[in-house]
Amino acid sequence: QATGRLSKALQLTLAVIKPDAIAHPVIAEAIHQTILDNNFAIVRCKDLVWKRQDSERFYVEHSERFFYQRLVEFMSSGPMRAYILAREDAIRHWRDLMGPTKVFQARYTSPACIRARFGLTDTRNTTHGSDSPESAQREISFFFPDFNVEQWLKKEEPLFR
Ligand code: ADP
Ligand code: MG
Repeated sequence: QATGRLSKALQLTLAVIKPDAIAHPVIAEAIHQTILDNNFAIVRCKDLVWKRQDSERFYVEHSERFFYQRLVEFMSSGPMRAYILAREDAIRHWRDLMGPTKVFQARYTSPACIRARFGLTDTRNTTHGSDSPESAQREISFFFPDFNVEQWLKKEEPLFR
């Protein structure tokens, strides 16, 4: 019988500390610490800078939204940090920790969340997280093209029990 903290179906998600937060090392560190404090295993972590094209491609689903241009510009404005995180129910847990997309709403409804604590605007909102298993798969491949989710889970999942 599995009893470990990750024994209930290990899940992977893609988390990003966006350029606004990476620009402030103390904030980036606080977010990193929040990851560690919440029983995520850090599977991969890398710093990178997007070209405008990467940004456009990643957020293509928002290409018709009014904020698309500023989002694309912002996400290619400087270094960010991408993580593959593992835990039980990782996708939902990370999104709960980030809180609502809109920073001012986040401050009102959930002041302890990452976006409420450190977000600057609705666009410069500190962090990204996958919103479904399908997007986690796509986004992990986008940031870590050599990473095989299925293979990793098959090999590592038993070790988390
Ligand atoms: P989330 O990041 O919470 O999944 P979305 O996928 O809806 O949110 O939007 C992607 C990103 O676009 C947000 O994280 C934020 O940076 C930006 N964004 C979303 N909605 C707005 C908005 N109303 N005004 C400005 N920027 C926005
Ligand atoms: Mg989203």
